[in-house]
Amino acid sequence: MKILLSNDDGYLAPGLIALARALQAFAEVTVVAPDTNRSGASNALTLDRPLRLEQADNGFYYVNGTPSDCIHIALTALMSSPPDLIVSGLNQGQNMGDDTLYSGTVAAATEGYLFGIPAIAFSQVDKGWTFLEDAVQAAVALIRCEFPSLPRPFLLNVNIPNCAYAQLKGHRVVRLGKRHMSEPVIKAFDPSGRAVYWIGPAGSAKDASEGTDFHAVAQGYIAITPLQVDLSNVPQLSALAADLA
Ligand code: MN
Repeated sequence: MKILLSNDDGYLAPGLIALARALQAFAEVTVVAPDTNRSGASNALTLDRPLRLEQADNGFYYVNGTPSDCIHIALTALMSSPPDLIVSGLNQGQNMGDDTLYSGTVAAATEGYLFGIPAIAFSQVDKGWTFLEDAVQAAVALIRCEFPSLPRPFLLNVNIPNCAYAQLKGHRVVRLGKRHMSEPVIKAFDPSGRAVYWIGPAGSAKDASEGTDFHAVAQGYIAITPLQVDLSNVPQLSALAADLA
């Protein structure tokens, strides 16, 4: 099995290193990740400057760009043949509900999916790495299942509760939940007295009902959501066309 591994936390992130080590036990793994933490980069491609592909002593490649840049370069300039699977993560922090739109972790997987390759994004809920190896074990178990019934390509978003492997209750196949509006920006002042702003926290869960990723994770299950990319609001097509008739 040939796996292309990336993330949005950067090529030095513990989640990437631990997952790479586990995957190398049974797969041929190529790692291409951003040179810095690009969490929140979403699906951005860098078009205003050239990109460099460098290789670290451990064999990982890193790019001075976004997660999507990494997959784009890996697939079109580095790898001689496409991988069987693209894996992104393991991200430090959850990517559930509306977070998936902003997530660079999900974006790296999405970029592979757009190239027609099955892809899985993995995130561990909450910050901190107390149970990193447990989450890696859960991720590896899912990767090794290979999802033979799923049509190719697929794009899966996986969130793993932050607990010991033995404490995980199993997995739930669920839809994305929804969040309330984000918290306001946080205003501060630079040394010159000019206002600066930090993007504030995401909103709290609005739809965390049964059947959502929020609910599954809160109950101690690994949440798995198959994603799609088409943003068309199909039910509004006819109403819009009627307004313009
Ligand atoms: Mn991240």
